[in-house]
Amino acid sequence: GGSSGKFFVGGNWKCNGTTASISKLVSDLNEAKVEADVDVVVAPPFVYIDQVKKTLTDRVEISSQNSWVGKGGAFTGEIRVGKGGAFTGEISVEQLKDVGCTWVILGHSERRHVIGEDDQFIGKKAAYALTENLKVIACIGEKLEEREAGKTFDVCFQQLKAYADNVPSWDNIVVAYEPVWAIGTGKVATPEQAQEVHVAIRDWLKKNVSAEVASKTRIIYGGSVNGGNCAELAKKEDIDGFLVGGASLKNPTQQTLQPKS
Ligand code: PGA
Repeated sequence: GGSSGKFFVGGNWKCNGTTASISKLVSDLNEAKVEADVDVVVAPPFVYIDQVKKTLTDRVEISSQNSWVGKGGAFTGEIRVGKGGAFTGEISVEQLKDVGCTWVILGHSERRHVIGEDDQFIGKKAAYALTENLKVIACIGEKLEEREAGKTFDVCFQQLKAYADNVPSWDNIVVAYEPVWAIGTGKVATPEQAQEVHVAIRDWLKKNVSAEVASKTRIIYGGSVNGGNCAELAKKEDIDGFLVGGASLKNPTQQTLQPKS
Protein backbone atom coordinates (compact mmCIF):
# COMPACT_ATOMS: atom_id res chain seq x y z
CA GLY A 1 0.00 0.00 0.00
CA GLY A 2 0.87 3.70 0.02
CA SER A 3 3.14 5.43 2.46
CA SER A 4 2.12 6.18 6.02
CA GLY A 5 3.42 9.76 5.66
CA LYS A 6 1.50 12.96 4.93
CA PHE A 7 0.43 13.74 1.37
CA PHE A 8 3.13 15.90 -0.24
CA VAL A 9 2.70 18.70 -2.77
CA GLY A 10 5.80 20.36 -4.14
CA GLY A 11 5.93 23.27 -6.59
CA ASN A 12 9.05 23.36 -8.76
CA TRP A 13 9.24 26.84 -10.24
CA LYS A 14 12.36 25.94 -12.25
CA CYS A 15 14.10 28.90 -13.88
CA ASN A 16 11.01 31.08 -13.95
CA GLY A 17 9.90 34.29 -12.32
CA THR A 18 10.84 37.86 -11.56
CA THR A 19 10.77 39.78 -8.31
CA ALA A 20 7.31 41.01 -9.26
CA SER A 21 5.79 37.72 -10.47
CA ILE A 22 7.17 35.88 -7.44
CA SER A 23 5.75 38.50 -5.12
CA LYS A 24 2.32 37.83 -6.67
CA LEU A 25 2.74 34.05 -6.44
CA VAL A 26 3.71 34.28 -2.77
CA SER A 27 0.69 36.41 -1.91
CA ASP A 28 -1.56 33.91 -3.74
CA LEU A 29 0.06 31.08 -1.79
CA ASN A 30 -0.41 32.95 1.47
CA GLU A 31 -4.12 33.16 0.73
CA ALA A 32 -4.56 29.59 -0.47
CA LYS A 33 -6.35 27.14 1.79
CA VAL A 34 -4.14 24.18 2.62
CA GLU A 35 -5.40 21.02 4.29
CA ALA A 36 -3.72 20.33 7.62
CA ASP A 37 -2.46 16.89 6.63
CA VAL A 38 -0.56 17.99 3.54
CA ASP A 39 3.10 18.98 3.34
CA VAL A 40 3.47 21.90 0.95
CA VAL A 41 6.87 22.90 -0.39
CA VAL A 42 7.89 25.42 -3.06
CA ALA A 43 11.19 25.54 -4.91
CA PRO A 44 12.04 29.03 -6.19
CA PRO A 45 15.14 29.84 -8.24
CA PHE A 46 18.14 30.44 -5.95
CA VAL A 47 18.12 34.19 -6.38
CA TYR A 48 14.54 34.51 -5.10
CA ILE A 49 14.78 32.15 -2.11
CA ASP A 50 15.50 34.99 0.30
CA GLN A 51 12.58 37.05 -1.01
CA VAL A 52 10.27 34.05 -0.69
CA LYS A 53 11.50 33.20 2.80
CA LYS A 54 10.82 36.74 3.98
CA THR A 55 7.30 36.93 2.57
CA LEU A 56 5.83 33.40 2.46
CA THR A 57 3.72 31.91 5.24
CA ASP A 58 5.61 29.46 7.49
CA ARG A 59 2.95 26.91 6.55
CA VAL A 60 4.85 26.32 3.32
CA GLU A 61 8.41 25.04 3.35
CA ILE A 62 11.08 26.12 0.90
CA SER A 63 13.19 23.87 -1.26
CA SER A 64 16.20 24.59 -3.39
CA GLN A 65 16.26 23.19 -6.94
CA ASN A 66 19.84 21.98 -6.54
CA SER A 67 22.78 22.11 -4.15
CA TRP A 68 26.52 21.69 -4.21
CA VAL A 69 27.83 18.24 -3.47
CA GLY A 70 29.78 18.56 -0.28
CA LYS A 71 32.37 20.15 1.88
CA GLY A 72 35.99 19.75 2.65
CA GLY A 73 38.29 20.68 -0.20
CA ALA A 74 39.06 16.99 -0.46
CA PHE A 75 38.34 14.61 -3.30
CA THR A 76 35.56 12.08 -2.92
CA GLY A 77 35.99 9.66 -5.74
CA GLU A 78 36.35 11.79 -8.81
CA ILE A 79 34.22 14.57 -7.46
CA ARG A 80 35.92 17.61 -6.02
CA VAL A 81 33.79 18.59 -3.06
CA GLY A 82 33.75 21.78 -1.10
CA LYS A 83 31.92 23.84 1.47
CA GLY A 84 31.78 27.28 -0.04
CA GLY A 85 35.15 28.34 -1.31
CA ALA A 86 36.34 27.89 -4.84
CA PHE A 87 33.28 26.58 -6.70
CA THR A 88 32.30 29.40 -9.00
CA GLY A 89 28.57 29.48 -9.61
CA GLU A 90 27.61 26.81 -7.11
CA ILE A 91 25.47 27.17 -3.97
CA SER A 92 26.27 25.15 -0.86
CA VAL A 93 23.91 23.26 1.42
CA GLU A 94 25.04 25.51 4.27
CA GLN A 95 24.03 28.63 2.31
CA LEU A 96 20.67 27.13 1.41
CA LYS A 97 19.92 26.38 5.05
CA ASP A 98 21.08 29.86 6.01
CA VAL A 99 18.46 31.47 3.77
CA GLY A 100 15.65 29.21 4.95
CA CYS A 101 15.55 26.09 2.79
CA THR A 102 14.55 22.85 4.47
CA TRP A 103 14.45 20.76 1.28
CA VAL A 104 16.42 20.32 -1.92
CA ILE A 105 15.32 18.76 -5.22
CA LEU A 106 18.05 16.49 -6.57
CA GLY A 107 18.32 14.36 -9.69
CA HIS A 108 15.71 16.28 -11.64
CA SER A 109 15.65 15.11 -15.26
CA GLU A 110 16.63 18.57 -16.49
CA ARG A 111 19.81 18.34 -14.43
CA ARG A 112 20.47 14.77 -15.53
CA HIS A 113 19.77 15.19 -19.23
CA VAL A 114 20.36 18.88 -19.94
CA ILE A 115 23.17 19.65 -17.50
CA GLY A 116 24.65 16.14 -17.59
CA GLU A 117 24.68 15.11 -13.92
CA ASP A 118 25.18 11.38 -13.44
CA ASP A 119 23.76 8.93 -10.92
CA GLN A 120 26.80 8.89 -8.64
CA PHE A 121 27.13 12.67 -8.51
CA ILE A 122 23.45 12.94 -7.62
CA GLY A 123 23.78 10.19 -5.01
CA LYS A 124 26.68 12.03 -3.40
CA LYS A 125 24.75 15.29 -3.38
CA ALA A 126 21.84 13.54 -1.68
CA ALA A 127 24.16 12.04 0.90
CA TYR A 128 25.74 15.38 1.70
CA ALA A 129 22.43 17.25 1.91
CA LEU A 130 20.96 14.63 4.25
CA THR A 131 24.06 14.60 6.44
CA GLU A 132 23.64 18.36 6.83
CA ASN A 133 19.91 17.95 7.61
CA LEU A 134 18.46 19.21 4.37
CA LYS A 135 15.57 16.95 3.32
CA VAL A 136 15.77 15.56 -0.22
CA ILE A 137 13.24 15.24 -3.02
CA ALA A 138 15.06 12.50 -4.94
CA CYS A 139 13.92 12.45 -8.55
CA ILE A 140 14.08 9.48 -10.90
CA GLY A 141 12.42 8.63 -14.19
CA GLU A 142 12.81 7.11 -17.62
CA LYS A 143 12.97 8.75 -21.04
CA LEU A 144 10.43 7.94 -23.74
CA GLU A 145 12.79 5.70 -25.68
CA GLU A 146 13.62 3.81 -22.50
CA ARG A 147 9.92 3.23 -21.79
CA GLU A 148 9.35 2.12 -25.35
CA ALA A 149 12.28 -0.28 -25.09
CA GLY A 150 10.74 -1.83 -21.96
CA LYS A 151 13.46 -0.41 -19.72
CA THR A 152 11.38 1.75 -17.37
CA PHE A 153 12.01 -0.36 -14.27
CA ASP A 154 15.70 -0.91 -15.07
CA VAL A 155 16.30 2.82 -15.40
CA CYS A 156 14.34 3.72 -12.28
CA PHE A 157 16.03 1.02 -10.21
CA GLN A 158 19.49 2.05 -11.37
CA GLN A 159 18.79 5.66 -10.37
CA LEU A 160 17.32 4.51 -7.05
CA LYS A 161 20.35 2.33 -6.38
CA ALA A 162 22.67 5.32 -6.73
CA TYR A 163 20.73 7.05 -3.95
CA ALA A 164 20.64 3.88 -1.84
CA ASP A 165 24.38 3.29 -2.26
CA ASN A 166 25.20 6.78 -1.01
CA VAL A 167 22.64 8.04 1.51
CA PRO A 168 23.14 7.57 5.25
CA SER A 169 19.42 7.08 5.90
CA TRP A 170 16.05 7.26 4.16
CA ASP A 171 14.33 9.20 6.96
CA ASN A 172 14.25 12.51 5.10
CA ILE A 173 13.85 11.43 1.49
CA VAL A 174 10.79 11.74 -0.70
CA VAL A 175 11.14 9.85 -3.98
CA ALA A 176 9.72 11.69 -6.99
CA TYR A 177 8.90 9.51 -9.98
CA GLU A 178 8.95 11.84 -12.95
CA PRO A 179 8.88 10.15 -16.35
CA VAL A 180 10.89 12.43 -18.63
CA TRP A 181 8.32 12.17 -21.42
CA ALA A 182 5.68 13.63 -19.11
CA ILE A 183 7.66 16.62 -17.85
CA GLY A 184 6.52 19.88 -19.35
CA THR A 185 4.88 18.08 -22.26
CA GLY A 186 1.24 18.07 -21.21
CA LYS A 187 1.37 14.26 -21.56
CA VAL A 188 0.63 13.20 -18.00
CA ALA A 189 1.15 9.53 -17.12
CA THR A 190 -2.14 7.73 -16.65
CA PRO A 191 -2.94 6.90 -13.03
CA GLU A 192 -2.30 3.22 -13.92
CA GLN A 193 1.09 3.95 -15.49
CA ALA A 194 2.17 5.96 -12.46
CA GLN A 195 0.80 3.46 -9.95
CA GLU A 196 2.61 0.59 -11.70
CA VAL A 197 5.98 2.30 -11.33
CA HIS A 198 5.28 3.52 -7.78
CA VAL A 199 4.53 -0.06 -6.70
CA ALA A 200 7.73 -1.23 -8.36
CA ILE A 201 9.71 1.49 -6.56
CA ARG A 202 8.20 0.52 -3.20
CA ASP A 203 8.96 -3.09 -3.90
CA TRP A 204 12.54 -2.24 -4.80
CA LEU A 205 12.93 -0.33 -1.54
CA LYS A 206 11.54 -3.28 0.38
CA LYS A 207 13.97 -5.72 -1.21
CA ASN A 208 17.02 -3.48 -1.29
CA VAL A 209 16.66 -1.16 1.71
CA SER A 210 14.08 -2.39 4.22
CA ALA A 211 10.39 -3.09 4.65
CA GLU A 212 10.17 -0.16 7.05
CA VAL A 213 11.67 2.30 4.57
CA ALA A 214 9.42 0.94 1.84
CA SER A 215 6.30 1.55 3.91
CA LYS A 216 7.35 4.95 5.27
CA THR A 217 8.83 6.58 2.17
CA ARG A 218 6.55 8.85 0.22
CA ILE A 219 6.63 8.27 -3.52
CA ILE A 220 5.29 11.28 -5.39
CA TYR A 221 4.53 11.69 -9.07
CA GLY A 222 5.63 14.53 -11.33
CA GLY A 223 5.06 15.29 -15.00
CA SER A 224 2.28 17.55 -16.31
CA VAL A 225 0.26 17.41 -13.09
CA ASN A 226 -2.42 20.08 -12.89
CA GLY A 227 -5.66 20.93 -11.16
CA GLY A 228 -7.57 18.90 -13.71
CA ASN A 229 -5.72 15.58 -13.45
CA CYS A 230 -4.42 15.47 -9.88
CA ALA A 231 -7.53 14.04 -8.23
CA GLU A 232 -7.55 10.89 -10.38
CA LEU A 233 -3.83 10.34 -9.83
CA ALA A 234 -4.16 10.88 -6.08
CA LYS A 235 -6.71 8.08 -5.85
CA LYS A 236 -4.01 5.54 -6.60
CA GLU A 237 -2.80 3.91 -3.44
CA ASP A 238 0.92 4.37 -3.98
CA ILE A 239 0.81 7.97 -5.20
CA ASP A 240 1.70 9.90 -2.05
CA GLY A 241 1.86 13.36 -3.55
CA PHE A 242 3.05 15.42 -6.50
CA LEU A 243 5.91 17.48 -7.78
CA VAL A 244 4.35 20.14 -9.97
CA GLY A 245 6.21 22.32 -12.46
CA GLY A 246 4.22 24.48 -14.86
CA ALA A 247 0.97 24.42 -12.90
CA SER A 248 2.75 25.58 -9.72
CA LEU A 249 3.31 28.97 -11.36
CA LYS A 250 -0.42 29.54 -11.61
CA ASN A 251 -2.62 30.99 -8.89
CA PRO A 252 -3.05 28.20 -6.30
CA THR A 253 -6.33 29.66 -5.06
CA GLN A 254 -7.81 28.84 -8.46
CA GLN A 255 -6.66 25.22 -8.44
CA THR A 256 -7.47 22.18 -6.42
CA LEU A 257 -4.32 20.28 -5.68
CA GLN A 258 -5.76 18.16 -2.97
CA PRO A 259 -4.90 15.00 -1.12
CA LYS A 260 -6.67 11.67 -1.26
CA SER A 261 -10.20 11.84 0.01
P1 PGA B 1 5.72 19.87 -15.13
O1 PGA B 1 7.14 19.68 -14.39
O2 PGA B 1 4.67 19.79 -14.04
O3 PGA B 1 5.78 21.22 -15.77
O4 PGA B 1 5.60 18.75 -16.09
C1 PGA B 1 7.29 18.78 -13.34
C2 PGA B 1 8.72 18.79 -12.86
O5 PGA B 1 9.62 18.97 -13.69
O6 PGA B 1 8.99 18.61 -11.66
